[in-house]
Parts: sequence; C-alpha cells; structure tokens
Amino acid sequence: MNVIIFGPPGAGKGTQSNNIVKKFNLYQISTGDLLRNEVKNQTELGKDIENIISKGDFATDEIVNELIKKAIFDPNKKNKLIFDGYPRSLNQAKNLNLLLSNSDQKIDFIFFLNVNKDTIIKRIEKRKMLEKRSDDNPNTILKRYDTYMETTKPVLDFYSKNKNFYEINGDEEIHVISSKIEHILSV
Ligand code: AMP
Repeated sequence: MNVIIFGPPGAGKGTQSNNIVKKFNLYQISTGDLLRNEVKNQTELGKDIENIISKGDFATDEIVNELIKKAIFDPNKKNKLIFDGYPRSLNQAKNLNLLLSNSDQKIDFIFFLNVNKDTIIKRIEKRKMLEKRSDDNPNTILKRYDTYMETTKPVLDFYSKNKNFYEINGDEEIHVISSKIEHILSV
C-alpha cells in the first residue's frame, strides 16, 4: 500500500511515518529529509535549497518533483511508500498522481493531521532540544505554518474529496494518533 501523511510543520508527520514504516514495512519518503541531504552533501542544488529552507520558504516544485522520482520508480519500494511532507502544493499532488500512474501504482490512504498553531509551537520548541534544525526558530516556524496553510490548502481540497481521505486530530497524544492510524491501515 502507498500512504500520504500530511499536515502543517510540527503536526507529527515524521513521528507517525516512522511508526508506520516499522509496523507495516514501508519506505518513508520525506522531501524535507531529501532536501536536507542535498544541503548536507553540498551539492550545487544544496546551496539554493539551504537559502530557501532557512527562510521558511518552500523549495520549488521542480526541485522536489525531481527528488521523489527515484523513490517512486525504485522496484524494491513499489507499493510500499509513505510520503511525508509531499505533496505540499497542487502542482506536486498532480505530479504525484502522474508518477504513480506511470509506475502502475496508486495512493491507498491519505491522512491529514490537523493541528492548531499553539500545539505546533510547543512541539517545535521541544524538538529544538533533540535535533538542531536551522528552520526551528519561532519566527521561521510561524512563517512555515503560514506558507503551509497558504500553499497546502488546495492540496487539502484536492484530497478531501477522496474516499481514502482521513482527517486525524493531530493535537492528541502521539500514541493516540498512532493507534488511530494503525487501526485504519489494518482494516
Ligand atoms: P519538513 O522536514 O517536511 O518540515 O520540511 C522542511 C522544509 O523543507 C520545509 O519548510 C520546506 O522549506 C522544505 N520542503 C519539504 N518538503 C517540501 C515540499 N514537498 N515542497 C516544497 N518544499 C518542501
């Protein structure tokens, strides 16, 4: 099965994806991680990306669409994908549909972690103590939240009509969210 998990920064996408990956034997495709890898490896693309990410802006659709292609066409990962942080724009959502149909796949479950701004700020403050990310400071967080809401609203409208769409209350405890998602995936 292929799964999309989406929601604003700090909604717990990464945490929930990690859990599902282990329990259901999937591969996590995090565009945030793919982008940070480019920065870490100091590729040509990485220099542009570093600039964009540290300001809380989104990477261009061209960049992310290119980065996920490899994973989608990897035969070992076929029908075992969980998308974390992708798609974040309507263009990306349409591109994902196209790449999946070209590789004879589809999306089986879409989870939207709906979470309010206060919860996000608290969670990201906590994450700062565990891992150092240049985009985890209060101003950037709020910018990322606003950018997300603006750009991702059309994605929400696009997927919410789908019968495999599930909205989950992301303000709840991590284990409560995990068991809800696991239950849906197990039926
Ligand atoms: P994340 O780790 O998912 O919170 O992503 C960190 C940052 O990477 C975001 O704030 C964006 O700047 C960038 N990013 C991640 N995924 C995407 C995407 N699908 N489209 C555009 N930018 C992205």
